[in-house]
Amino acid sequence: MSQMTPSAQQPVPYGGTSNAKYCQKCGAANDPNAPYCANCGASNFGAYPGGRISRPVGVTILAILQILGSLVTIIAGLTFGALFGALLPGLGAVLGLGLVALGVVTLLIAIALFTGRNWARILNIILAVIDLINFPVGTIIGIIFIIYFTRPRVVAYFKQPRTA
Ligand SMILES: [Zn+2]
Repeated sequence: MSQMTPSAQQPVPYGGTSNAKYCQKCGAANDPNAPYCANCGASNFGAYPGGRISRPVGVTILAILQILGSLVTIIAGLTFGALFGALLPGLGAVLGLGLVALGVVTLLIAIALFTGRNWARILNIILAVIDLINFPVGTIIGIIFIIYFTRPRVVAYFKQPRTA
């Protein structure tokens, strides 16, 4: 039942300009005069190295694994298409091209994850939710993914203002 004093200024999220100060708990950019973080309420402010939030290690590892997996899918599709395209004209080529297309799409998502695009984070959460029905391995991996991709530090990395 905490009541805000009428004079208390409610800090607003800051647009990430050069004089913004960064919350050390969640990474949100705040007004330089804010007494506490507008995003999470923490009062520990400071600067992340270079004023930017670095890519979390888990995101780097996951993106590289997804890039490798998509390349394997593309190679498998090309091989499949070449082998079965001769045996089953039409169907073999369609299946091969389908695999190649799937590989290209997952490659684009993996690169987007690596470069910090927030839609790639959201897409990974959606896929993790779908994966929950694959009990038990998919359920466990899905829960880990959902928890990881909604952690404040990870969310802050994907939501920080882009420089380029
Ligand atoms: Zn914060």
